[in-house]
Amino acid sequence: MSVAIGELPPQHDTLIHGGAVVTVDDEMRVLDPGWVYVRGNQIVEAGTDDPPKPLRQSAEVEISTEGCAVMPGMTNAHTHLFQTFFRGLADDKPLLDWLKDCIWPASVHVDAELAAPAFALGLVENLRGGATTVVDHQYIHIDPEINNAACQAAYGIGNRYLLAHGWADRNYVDELTQTAEKAIETASATHETWDEDDRIRVELGPLIPWGCSDDAMRETVAKSNEWGRGTHIHCAETAIEVEMNLEERGMRHVPWLKSLDVLDPSVTLAHSVWLDDEELDLIAEAGAVIAHAPVSNMYLASGVARVPEMRQRGITVALASDGSGSNNRQDMFEVLKATVLLAKVHNLDAMVLQPEDALMMACRGGPAAYGTPGDFGMIAPGQKADLVVVDLCSPMIMPVHRVMSALVFNASPRNIRDVIVDGRILIRDHELTTVNEAQIMADAQAAASELFRRANITSRLTST
Ligand SMILES: [Zn+2]
Repeated sequence: MSVAIGELPPQHDTLIHGGAVVTVDDEMRVLDPGWVYVRGNQIVEAGTDDPPKPLRQSAEVEISTEGCAVMPGMTNAHTHLFQTFFRGLADDKPLLDWLKDCIWPASVHVDAELAAPAFALGLVENLRGGATTVVDHQYIHIDPEINNAACQAAYGIGNRYLLAHGWADRNYVDELTQTAEKAIETASATHETWDEDDRIRVELGPLIPWGCSDDAMRETVAKSNEWGRGTHIHCAETAIEVEMNLEERGMRHVPWLKSLDVLDPSVTLAHSVWLDDEELDLIAEAGAVIAHAPVSNMYLASGVARVPEMRQRGITVALASDGSGSNNRQDMFEVLKATVLLAKVHNLDAMVLQPEDALMMACRGGPAAYGTPGDFGMIAPGQKADLVVVDLCSPMIMPVHRVMSALVFNASPRNIRDVIVDGRILIRDHELTTVNEAQIMADAQAAASELFRRANITSRLTST
């Protein structure tokens, strides 16, 4: 694996100016034209028109954004990066069949060597797709080195990265089952090696209600809280899973979490499609975060999450792609557009969600799922410098009447020109600065072919 460690670019005093600045602040102001000044890993100032002379003089790096929009980096609040190799393998199946027929049989052959290029490719895809922060619900553990491979890839490429160590202690495929004790032991080792406040965080992520026993839930949540970290879990993704919980525990998913006393602002509930009014109220009251994954929900025909009702209740909603096995991309621009369109058609109301709502969720909701609400996701003094420059001079985008509309309905990863994470320029003029992308793709191709050969799964990949 060629993901280099310790070669991150320096954090300069950087002045970005000339284009529109989409702040995603409380007023959703667009500074047009505007400028942003970054010092170290922080935004120190932003304004309209020309930047003040002293800032022009002190800047070590200037980035001209004429014809572009600068926006805060987005957070992909729920994905499974190891699934990068699984995209397109098992289209057209509902969730539980998709798991049993495709994901599990191949997953049990994923070791650290094969997983490393999948993590790297997934992280590069996220960066190119506008996600400067990635929440990876990582539940492959046949090799104790897998978590290290994931964190190493994130460290070397430069994304902001949360590894939620996924576990299930029952009803799951044997090779991927972990007791609470084992999950805590493995996650603790990862936490100790990699967790730092800003760039890389490690917490525990109970996989699914039907795979997690009550006692194990309590233990892992307590451990994560002891680290000052949260809990990430799939919740009410499909109707059948809610029925299963009702049958077994006599409770829907959210009352069950509440009964375990684990529902609080540090908890992120992925999907949350099949929630009733009482559950929405409980989430609002507890301050828990929802990671909405509209493309995956459509792909698996899981259902339509009640996003407008969530937001009316003041629930923090973040946006997510979900794993590439059920999307099949890591493209936050596609997620932005799907979020708005799905809500409009489902509610037969063209006003129900608008571009600024989607940007607010993707940029401002995400940091709450990461565990650092308010730290980044907005262009304002004191925020972490995670920024994306989108070139609006494209036949697919121009002319631009409203910048936020153009970002949500027109822009795509091909329009991303520059990406800054934690004050470091990770993509400049469409080129990655930290890693050799061609090498990552070559490694990924070889590892994916080897994986599906080992798993004895036939596809175009194994026959060529
Ligand atoms: Zn998921």
